[in-house]
Formats: sequence, structure tokens, C-alpha cells
Amino acid sequence: MTMLSKAAALLQGSDRPLLIAHPRPDGDTVGSTLALRLALSQLGKHPIVACVHPLPDNLAYLPGAEAFVAEVPETADIDLVVAIDMSDLSRTGGICRDSWRDRIPLLVIDHHETNDQFGDVNLVRPSAAATALMMIDVIEALGVMVAGEIATHLLLGLLTDTRGLRTETTTPAVLRTVSDLIEAGGDYLGVMQRTLDSVPYRKMRGWGIALDRLQLDEDGGVVPIAWTTFPVAEKEALGISDHDDLDLGNLLSRVGEAKAIATFIEMRDGTVKVSMRARPGYNVAQIAYDLGGGGHRQASGCTIDGPLDVAVDRVLAKLRTSVDPVGERPTDRR
Ligand code: AMP
Ligand code: MN
Ligand code: MN
Repeated sequence: MTMLSKAAALLQGSDRPLLIAHPRPDGDTVGSTLALRLALSQLGKHPIVACVHPLPDNLAYLPGAEAFVAEVPETADIDLVVAIDMSDLSRTGGICRDSWRDRIPLLVIDHHETNDQFGDVNLVRPSAAATALMMIDVIEALGVMVAGEIATHLLLGLLTDTRGLRTETTTPAVLRTVSDLIEAGGDYLGVMQRTLDSVPYRKMRGWGIALDRLQLDEDGGVVPIAWTTFPVAEKEALGISDHDDLDLGNLLSRVGEAKAIATFIEMRDGTVKVSMRARPGYNVAQIAYDLGGGGHRQASGCTIDGPLDVAVDRVLAKLRTSVDPVGERPTDRR
């Protein structure tokens, strides 16, 4: 039995599955979750969707967005947990309870290189450009047609995780899938206009602050690194909450001289949320994994102890010495 058929069997056998999207939700986790929700609803099932953080403005308009709950009681009437687009159990944001593990099966559908196979069934494909791409196979295995709103949700996942089809993972097959999804009724223009090409005013003001603090470190290490910091005081001034990372990683990833970038967002609890991005041929997954986080070669993240300047020194030191084309899957977490 393949992992895909095991995953499909778990979903077929469930009546009240809980679908979990990761914290600080992005287009892939939300799109994949909402697409699976629609497919399961078409089969007469009663899925619940959850995410510990609210959806950002550029995803909150989606049909079905209002269905997300931030909390699920320990005694909830569910018979399957599905963790979507996340590499380890902590990425459910505490929604998945320890007490469920003995009695409720856990299905993981994910494409992170650092995935630690935390489910009972793990459908994990690190080569996939997005979890949305894997979700197409899952939904088809359930016998549901990928069309209309389902196609829009999956298009959203694919377009956001490839940053508008510009990552190393954007293969000819990915481009063909995008075209198939549009033909199946996916709203390409809507996703582009309302999600990828729409930045709330306050967020763009935040970018101004982050760009004002931008540094380019060209001499110190193996590769040029661009980085910036975002202190709590600046968040307070602009009214930015802790679960909004302003998508700074993707913003900085475009600094032309840089082979790697890092953003450091100070949290109100004193920790620092780090986002890293690398140009094709470089790998930041291992560094994030070593720091307790995870991700992909070209995009990874972690949350580490403050204060801000200590976090910066720690991460830059690692980036300077070890951002190189490591092909291996991360193994030992230190
Ligand atoms: P971000 O920089 O938050 O946009 O995340 C980049 C990639 O790294 C995404 O695929 C995230 O799912 C992953 N990631 C970010 N933070 C963490 C973390 N603390 N643990 C595991 N994966 C993470
Ligand atoms: Mn994601
Ligand atoms: Mn993803």
C-alpha cells in the first residue's frame, strides 16, 4: 500500500476529521487545508479546520476562511487529525493534544525537507513545490474532482509557495499543473491580485522600517548576506501583532547582491523569529533545523532566544560559515 493510498484510506474512514494549518498561516497551509475541507465536505463528511493564528488580510477574503477556529477542545468529537504543511508536531501550535495521540490517528501531509515523520501516516514529499501539489493527488485519490473553488485554493498554495512561480522548485510540471488548475476553474487573477499583489498599507509601512534597517554583509563570510531587524518598539508604533511577520523574508530575498538573507523579528515575549532565504544552490534548511526550526533549502525559519543583537550574531555566524550547497537531509538536531 502506498503512502497516498494509506492517507486516502484514513480520510475515507473518517467522518469528523480535524484539519490543522500551521501558525502564521501562509497561502499553502491555508489553501491546502481549505481544498481538503471542500473535498471532504463533498463526500458528506464533517471536517473542522483550525489554525492557532488568524488568517492574514491577504488570505482572509477566501471563501471558507471564516470556518477556521483557533482552539479545539480536548474533548472535541473528532476521529482523525490531519497536519497540513508542517514539519513537526509543535507546528500545530498546540492544537493537537497529547491525549489524542493514543486514540486518534494522525495524518501528516507535507513537503518540508526537515519533516520528522511525526504522524501515524506520513505523506511527505520534499521535492514538491508546495503541499498544494500533493493535495491534488490526495483529493483525486478520494475520487473528488479538482475543480472550481478547490482549484482556486490549490492554485493559491502553489503560487504563494513558489513566490509567484520564481523558485527553484518551479518545474515544467508545476507550470503545467498551474495551467490545469486554471482550466479547471481556478481563479488565477484573483489569487494574484488579492494575495500575491496585495499589501495592506500598514504592512507596507512596516516594510519601510525594515528596509531602513537593512544591512548588507559582503565581506565577513563565505557568501554575501542581507539582513534586517524589526524591534518590538517599531511593532508597537505601527500596531503590528506578534503573529504578523510582515512577510519580511520574501521581501528581502530579492536583494540582488545577497546569496542568503535573514530577518529578525523581536517578539513581545523576548524571543526572536528568524526567517532565512537562500538563492538556488545554497541551503538554509540545515541551519534553521539546527536552531530548532525547519523548512526548505531556499526558505526556512526558527524562533530563538533574544535579545535581538545576540540572536543576530548567532544566526549570522552560522550563515557565514555554513550556508553552502549541502545536499543532505538534516538529521541530528543539536
Ligand atoms: P517563514 O520564514 O516563516 O516564511 O518560513 C519559511 C519556511 O520555514 C516555511 O516553509 C515554514 O514552514 C518553515 N518554518 C518557519 N519557521 C519554522 C519553525 N519554527 N519550525 C519549523 N519550520 C519553520
Ligand atoms: Mn507553509
Ligand atoms: Mn508549503
